[in-house]
Amino acid sequence: MRVTVSEACVGHGVCESLADDVFEVGDDGVSHVLLDPVPVGREDAVTGAVRACPAQALSTSA
Ligand code: SF4
Repeated sequence: MRVTVSEACVGHGVCESLADDVFEVGDDGVSHVLLDPVPVGREDAVTGAVRACPAQALSTSA
């Protein structure tokens, strides 16, 4: 799985709070993906972050 952050990200960090090994909100105020591809063992956490993102800024692909 790969996960990407779109321009819709407003940086409130819900994704980071759910998977801080995968996402990090940078000094630029938006989230960055730290693990690409996402390790299999973290896919459920990333899926949860995708669902939880208030801006619907996260999307996944195979
Ligand atoms: S939860 Fe969504 S809007 Fe918030 S920092 Fe993460 S990707 Fe950006």
